[in-house]
Amino acid sequence: MANIKVKEIKPIESLLVANRGEIASRVFRTCRKMGIRSVAVFSEADRHMPFVGDADEAVFIGENAPSESYLNMDKIISVAKQKNIDAIHPGYGFLSENAAFAQKCIDNDIIFVGPHPDAISSMGSKATAKALMQAHDVPVVPGYNGDDQDMAVLMAEAKGVGVPLLLKAAAGGGGKGMRIVRDLEDLEQAIRSAQRESLSAFGDDRLIIEKYIESGRHIEFQIIGDKHGHVLHLLERECSLQRRYQKVIEESPSPVMTEPLRKRMGAAAIKAAKAIQYDNAGTMEFIYDKDSDEFYFLEVNTRLQVEHPVTEAITGLDIVQLQIESAEGKPLSLYQEDISGSGYAVEVRLYAEDAGNNFTPVTGRIVHFEVPHTDGLRVESAIRSGSDISVFYDPMIAKIIVHGSDRSDALRKMAYVLRRTICLGTVTNQDYLLRIVEDQRFIDGAYTTQFLNKDFGYSRNDDSTSVIAKAAIAATLYGWRKRNGARKLLKSLPSGWRNSFYAPQHDTYFVNKEMINVQYRYQSDVLSVSIGEQTHKIRYNGAEGSALYVEIDDMVTPYYVINSGQNYFVHSIETGNLHLTKQDRLPVKEKEAVPGVYASPMPCTIVKLNVKPGQRVKSGDALIIISSMKMESIITATSDGIVEETYVADNQSIEAGMLMLKINEKDN
Ligand code: ADP
Repeated sequence: MANIKVKEIKPIESLLVANRGEIASRVFRTCRKMGIRSVAVFSEADRHMPFVGDADEAVFIGENAPSESYLNMDKIISVAKQKNIDAIHPGYGFLSENAAFAQKCIDNDIIFVGPHPDAISSMGSKATAKALMQAHDVPVVPGYNGDDQDMAVLMAEAKGVGVPLLLKAAAGGGGKGMRIVRDLEDLEQAIRSAQRESLSAFGDDRLIIEKYIESGRHIEFQIIGDKHGHVLHLLERECSLQRRYQKVIEESPSPVMTEPLRKRMGAAAIKAAKAIQYDNAGTMEFIYDKDSDEFYFLEVNTRLQVEHPVTEAITGLDIVQLQIESAEGKPLSLYQEDISGSGYAVEVRLYAEDAGNNFTPVTGRIVHFEVPHTDGLRVESAIRSGSDISVFYDPMIAKIIVHGSDRSDALRKMAYVLRRTICLGTVTNQDYLLRIVEDQRFIDGAYTTQFLNKDFGYSRNDDSTSVIAKAAIAATLYGWRKRNGARKLLKSLPSGWRNSFYAPQHDTYFVNKEMINVQYRYQSDVLSVSIGEQTHKIRYNGAEGSALYVEIDDMVTPYYVINSGQNYFVHSIETGNLHLTKQDRLPVKEKEAVPGVYASPMPCTIVKLNVKPGQRVKSGDALIIISSMKMESIITATSDGIVEETYVADNQSIEAGMLMLKINEKDN
């Protein structure tokens, strides 16, 4: 174990963030507060992102592929040297838990704002992390984390653990390579598939086996340590709202926390941190079994977490500042007794993804992004209005954090903010987040890590017809005004003015695969709109900023409408953010799926093209592996045939709908 010697306090005068997006902006904010000169690095796709302008200086470091930019250690170190930088903050993801990078910084006389490299490497493998914690009497989930990975051994150990059990990639992270096994009949196949996924994701197929905690809750403790052997915890966060083992909503304190439990878990967290001489910010993750009131160590995240703002909200501390001070060699100026939480904080992660369509990542331009003001609100945004969500990185748009006097106050405020956040131009998970926050089971706090996967259920297709009708009315009014802009409609038209232009017109929109027909006609100073059996009187009551005040049957509400080609994005408090596609005026024949033609389902990068022209394929064969926003998917053959032509190559980035290959299905 490392022997950390503190020679002296070395003030940090300048800092480079080896990261992008909201976390880079977040770190720059603390740099400004502390009077530290800051430098950003950015890739091609990020040139116009807000974080680039948030630093004193920003340096272009390369192409979009992370290996060319945010993961390229040599380039980053060389920029730091050129710019005479004292310290590098790695943010989260990318190089943040990379012991080799931390060591490289030290070797180049640059302070790494994070723990010492031995702490990172000892926690890099779930197997060694568990063994180390076991040796220090930190409770771990019962299971197997041995070196012998022989199938017979794994099978026997798994049977010993019993079902339900969880297979995990020893080198794992991000939920990859995890398999729940509920029936021993499925064990061997699950082991093989977890090994395959682990090998492809981490280049290492070793597994660990754990008892699966059925009604588990993910509770983690924020840790801060210094180079003088002091470690404190900054209370807990609950992150049980997860999808595919990834956090969606986090809160602090945990709704199930009691003072005696906090004491027990906090002490275990500190014991775990001391076991690795932890000397910066980190997180001790536990799974808590409410039925038995037992908790078990899961892993240590040796970095700043995405969800750190909820801890900052309730403790009033700036964790990035604490990180920087510890990295400078300063002793912590706080004691455990000084740490207390005030009120309640919740964070949601707003992503460009289609929650109604299996959470497919979405790219595109966020034309309008605006979060309403309220007390206790904090927005950590990766973008601004006009920013593009690119295919290369995590599709996070923003983190929204609210702080309230108690949990119900915080949740009410979060629902208020999510209802009023305008995010137009692409599809997001905003509606999904809102529905979780308003779900009674979540409000009651009685959820487990399985809640979103098993119990919640979500479909975007359940918007009521009247809500969709209102969005269609707003889009129609917007389009109509745009076409007739010069005429200063509707209010100022002399009443009774008529010409053939005001004969009935109609528009057709598609919303969530539903078709909606809008018939409209201008009559004196109102637009008379019919949708199905209903007729509405619509007036335009003026605009303010980008809000249109639309009066629908005597009720006025602001609507925000963005139009790009056939796409209309509409926001109002009642409709949320809705995407409508308008049908062409002269209807074109519906595009039919052409047999044997494979187009990209989303913007993506080609990871591997598995076939060549002339090759015979069978239905179900893996043709192409694509990757979009860090998620890999396999395009399989839908029928037998011979590959006629391929149009893409490995590593190529393509837009949605682009032709990838053709298969001749006739001559098979
Ligand atoms: P990763 O590093 O891939 O994120 P973790 O070990 O942190 O993997 O686990 C991710 C999530 O999986 C946890 O937050 C928890 O919801 C669930 N999980 C992990 N281990 C167990 C377990 N033994 N029983 C039940 N759920 C678990």
